[in-house]
Amino acid sequence: MLQTTTSTIAKILKTDCTTNVEFKDVCTDTRKHMNGALFLALTGDNFDAHDYIDQAQQMGAVAIVANKPVNNQLPTLVVDDTQIALNTIASWHLKNIKPIVIAITGSNGKTTTKNMLANILNLQAPTLKTQGNLNNHLGVPMTLLTLEEQHQYAVIEMGANHLGEIAHLCSLVNPNIAIVTNTLDAHIGEFGGFDNLVKAKGEIYSNNSHNIVNTQDTFTGDVSFGKGGDIFASKLVNNKFDLNIYKQKISVTLNLIGTHNIENALAASTCAYALGIDINLIKQGLEVTKAEHGRLEVINTKKFRIIDDTYNANPHSTTTALKALQDFSGEKIVVLGAMRELGNDSEELHLKIGQLAKKSADTFYSYGKLTQHYYGIHFDSKQQLANHLLANHVHATVLIKGSRTVKMNELVDLLKK
Ligand code: ATP
Ligand code: UDP
Ligand code: MG
Repeated sequence: MLQTTTSTIAKILKTDCTTNVEFKDVCTDTRKHMNGALFLALTGDNFDAHDYIDQAQQMGAVAIVANKPVNNQLPTLVVDDTQIALNTIASWHLKNIKPIVIAITGSNGKTTTKNMLANILNLQAPTLKTQGNLNNHLGVPMTLLTLEEQHQYAVIEMGANHLGEIAHLCSLVNPNIAIVTNTLDAHIGEFGGFDNLVKAKGEIYSNNSHNIVNTQDTFTGDVSFGKGGDIFASKLVNNKFDLNIYKQKISVTLNLIGTHNIENALAASTCAYALGIDINLIKQGLEVTKAEHGRLEVINTKKFRIIDDTYNANPHSTTTALKALQDFSGEKIVVLGAMRELGNDSEELHLKIGQLAKKSADTFYSYGKLTQHYYGIHFDSKQQLANHLLANHVHATVLIKGSRTVKMNELVDLLKK
């Protein structure tokens, strides 16, 4: 956490400060904590935080950064652009702490790779990682501001929907190690074509960083992972594999399901290897990594083994989940809610995924609106579906998934009762 004075920050921001006060933490949101903090007012799509300055004061803010003079007695630093001010403060704080920075982007697997790598590095020295999915132009500087004196590594997740975004984030963090997990065609629409998607992710690589590439991608780097790479997996059986790092080899059993997570483990291992971490620590860090809530999270209840993948759904991640289900023996059940925001192809994609779901399971249920093209056994009430599952199946593995807005997690909760 950043702890300093307003006059120090005024100097960095090249502005004035009438009263010098100490603060701890920079906060941007009055819906969160504010005690003793510097309130930095951002203007977003929904709100202008300059409207919340009095509220911030009531909640304990001790100073303000704003883009105009404000009607409030707290010491106020006026700047042209508060977003730029946030970046400036964050970069300055990073330079003071000087951790080794690892930047991770890619179409899929960023958060998982980040969690694995942070778990490995934490066995070596205190490590900061991006919390949750705070991986954009706000999340990255906010993450940097949480750096503490003891942190020796910072694992930073970077997301991008447009060209130039990763380049901008890298200008803030100057990564020592840079990695693109993969360039699958996630969110291709926003990039305007696959070539631009690859270009956008590739912005993470520079002459100043040690560059790690997936052998399936078109990038060239210093170290590669995956089939035919410097670091690769062999003897894959479900979640177990041999991790090969040049001439070293060690057996790893992940606490995560799905072969895609073995690829994420290779990505994390390659970063750790580049940082000189011992292969035994790499194994240990990988094996303690658990699923994020609602992402192929395995939950054992009295009656079922639930695979909770209710965080979100699109055709790619649903295919991945159906594949992961095959790792389990015994009766298999799939319950799918709709995949939203698929545009014109929606009907066809639901049809395709429905066919795959039927092949992948003993019984396939669909829930809710926009799922008629799945052609599963259909329910419109989660309670009735839960009752039906509990009455008709026992000791089965149940994969539950759907778009975030369909809230299939509610079905998981009903089955847990
Ligand atoms: P976001 O863009 O939401 O931040 P992310 O890149 O951080 O996503 P994760 O949260 O690690 O990715 O994983 C999200 C989903 O992506 C997983 O549930 C899985 O379906 C899919 N996925 C993860 N890793 C891979 C991979 N290496 N290859 C293919 N698909 C993957
Ligand atoms: N904000 C706030 N208090 C509120 C609502 C918004 O401090 O009650 C801040 C918010 O944290 C952000 C800024 O106002 O820094 C702009 O909000 P935005 O439009 O991004 O809306 P959000 O997505 O945060 O709801
Ligand atoms: Mg993520």
